[in-house]
Amino acid sequence: MKKGTELYSGKAKSVYLTDDPDLLILHFRDDTSAFDGKKIQKLDRKGMVNNKFNAFIMGKLAEAGIPTHFQSLLNDQDSLVLKLDMIPVECVVRNIAAGSICRRLGVEEGIDLDPPTFEFFLKDDERGDPMINEYHIQAFGWAEKEHVERMKTLTFAVNDVLTALFSAAGMLLVDFKLEFGVHNGEVYLGDEFTPDGCRVWDVETREKLDKDRFRQDLGDVVESYELVGARLGLSFDG
Ligand code: ADP
Ligand code: UDP
Repeated sequence: MKKGTELYSGKAKSVYLTDDPDLLILHFRDDTSAFDGKKIQKLDRKGMVNNKFNAFIMGKLAEAGIPTHFQSLLNDQDSLVLKLDMIPVECVVRNIAAGSICRRLGVEEGIDLDPPTFEFFLKDDERGDPMINEYHIQAFGWAEKEHVERMKTLTFAVNDVLTALFSAAGMLLVDFKLEFGVHNGEVYLGDEFTPDGCRVWDVETREKLDKDRFRQDLGDVVESYELVGARLGLSFDG
């Protein structure tokens, strides 16, 4: 599949058209960003690690019946995906309190959330991705009502699949963010699932193995992502 014109360059990935109007190429760059793009750094091998990590997780989700945009791994840093009309909303599920929920509600990091909580955020870096609810999404026309319901259902289904997967490998899936889009009227999981967009802790030590290592300057960022992948049974060679 030939890479065509660059459609969009985000904080961590670039998106290219292909000769098939229904397909795009996602190029995973080594760029890493946090705090809505205020902290940026290039990390060696990160593009390759995240591209392969994402392919592995998307495969597991597809096996479990979740409709995803993922088509195939093209090379170390490129994947072929279905072109979606992206819904400009981030869906976040939390199993354990960490990050913004602790700052917003003054709750302690590490508290189990039962039931897991669900939050919507508007994808808008300039405004710091504000938290929104279903009424905002409908009133401002960001997504149709049935698509909002579908995103929620799919996000919880992803949580069920991945909580079990990480747990079996000795890790806690603390929280994660998903993005969805629409193709031929159907909602698909888009974007990526990598340690850049989730929190993962070791079950015994509660050591942070995700992007908090970058946010909090803990070091060994890419090495930790690889460790998470390796524990899940993923090989990054070849
Ligand atoms: P950001 O835009 O948040 O800086 P990235 O650097 O990851 O994020 O850029 C990837 C962009 O590609 C995001 O805007 C994402 O919504 C978009 N995208 C992801 N998957 C698809 C898809 N299947 N079709 C169209 N756009 C997509
Ligand atoms: N997240 C993300 N992109 C964003 C905001 C959040 O991938 O723009 C992920 C983040 O990595 C975490 C989860 O969503 O796994 C919840 O993030 P939170 O609201 O706690 O914000 P943070 O403190 O991480 O900025």
